Amino acid sequence: SEERSNNFIEDIIEKDIADGKHGGRVHTRFPPEPNGFLHIGHAKSICLNFGLARRFGGKCNLRFDDTNPAKEKADYVASIKEDIKWLGFEWAEEHFASDYFEQLYQYALQLIRDGHAYVDDASAEEIARLKGTPTEPGKESPCRNRSVEENLDLFERMRKGEFREGEKVLRAKIDMASPNMHLRDPLMYRIKFAHHHRTGDNWCIYPMYDFAHGQSDSMEAITHSICTLEFVVHRPLYDWFIEKLNIFPSKQYEFARLNLSYTVMSKRKLLQLVEEKIVDGWDDPRMPTISAFRRRGYTPASIRDFCEKVGVQRRDNMIDVSLLEYCIREDLNKTATRVMAVLDPVKLVISNYPENSFEEMETDNNPEDPSAGTRKVPFGRELYIEREDFMENPPKKFFRLAVGNMVRLKSAYIVKCENFEKDADGNITVIYCSYIPESRSSQDTSGLKVKGTIHWLSAAHAKQAEVRLYDRLFLTENPAGEEADFRELVNPDSLQVIPDAMIEPSLAEAKPGDRFQFMRKGYFCADMDSREGKPVFNRTVTLKDTWAK
Ligand code: ATP
Ligand code: MG
Ligand code: MG
Repeated sequence: SEERSNNFIEDIIEKDIADGKHGGRVHTRFPPEPNGFLHIGHAKSICLNFGLARRFGGKCNLRFDDTNPAKEKADYVASIKEDIKWLGFEWAEEHFASDYFEQLYQYALQLIRDGHAYVDDASAEEIARLKGTPTEPGKESPCRNRSVEENLDLFERMRKGEFREGEKVLRAKIDMASPNMHLRDPLMYRIKFAHHHRTGDNWCIYPMYDFAHGQSDSMEAITHSICTLEFVVHRPLYDWFIEKLNIFPSKQYEFARLNLSYTVMSKRKLLQLVEEKIVDGWDDPRMPTISAFRRRGYTPASIRDFCEKVGVQRRDNMIDVSLLEYCIREDLNKTATRVMAVLDPVKLVISNYPENSFEEMETDNNPEDPSAGTRKVPFGRELYIEREDFMENPPKKFFRLAVGNMVRLKSAYIVKCENFEKDADGNITVIYCSYIPESRSSQDTSGLKVKGTIHWLSAAHAKQAEVRLYDRLFLTENPAGEEADFRELVNPDSLQVIPDAMIEPSLAEAKPGDRFQFMRKGYFCADMDSREGKPVFNRTVTLKDTWAK
């Protein structure tokens, strides 16, 4: 891999290793909540956490952060595992925070016994009102000085289901005057009579994120718990619980979350796009999810490369989606077979080429990779070319077809445009050319120099395909940051379906996931909607590179 300087988290880890902290052990974790599919922001976190473990000879756990019963589903668990594996990573241990419910409950009892937690009868509104403001201290709840015995009794009865939702909560007893609002007696448990995807109806009290996350890290002896910047203000609480419980001292470190232009990234918003059928599911190729990028034709290597190029920042910023497009182009340029496909076909007839006669033209599979070899493409008198490669009234410097112009047909002959026909609506229906027999590619003795080369297909051999062209899903760079509802900013032209594009015969057998470069048109990937004899291709990315290196 490329030489590059450390990011700040690598600096921290190198120092910890040098100091012999935890015996030089490095153990990270990736902790998704199974309430949606993973997106490209999660890919950043995956590459970082698994990458650090790999680089420092450590381990990375997968932990499902499933402490919130209402929104979590087993389907999401399966998709998350698939996506991590696809990205090329393997977790050391698989855990579910819900497996820790009993231990977390025991920790809560311990804190109550040590006078660090209490049951509060106040309503959510009352608690919020007494919390104060960042500039004004909060007020202590009347329940704050309950005896240990009373707190133990009430908390055990909370667990048994003796109280209604909202009737009682368990709070940490810290400091109602702390300048950090998260230390003003934060909630540890609330009552929720909700069915959990793994623990069923065993529990009617559920731990809050702040009480579950650090303790889960500690139980797994995680050395470096990496999360995004919004948790900086939670860190003192993370440390407080660990210190009061006197358990393994995991440490939290924060980096900037990845934001990508022209999309939204919160799972809540992505779920809305799916549920309101604005897109066709979580893996709709326009979505920023890992499964959508996979379906669209992105490679795992390109996404890992993107995450590496983005780096690890300490401040929030917006990454231009064209950097991601640059990464997939770089990868596919090296690996994708070049083929000819005509997306908007018009007939071209070579008047001086014999009827019912065909020959095979040899063409490179990938000029970037000589080991990719060559293949034969059938050629004949009647061809399809791209409608846009002909102009009735061409401007100067139009080097494609117009009456009197010459172009090279890729890997075949030079042709000269003689004439054309139009229908009653003015659409070009046929273009007539003559060909120069001595100009055959790789044995050209014609001495002619032409400026344009175009792709083509033999009309007698071409097969049909559906082609799906994608554009950005949103019209604005930061749809989540606008005043308008993000759903009103969806690009109405983000999907263009071409039902009857023409392709080389070999492509009719493409399997879902097969990737190609359609010459001059972009990189394409066969979609899972492909059927026998009727393939469907997604455009992964165009060929044009707009990213300034
Ligand atoms: P969302 O707001 O999209 O629901 P989340 O943080 O709630 O995101 P989790 O499933 O809890 O989603 O995230 C799992 C891990 O991935 C967390 O450690 C989180 O910090 C990280 N993560 C989530 N989104 C991003 C992002 N945009 N960039 C970097 N890391 C992210
Ligand atoms: Mg989260
Ligand atoms: Mg979330």
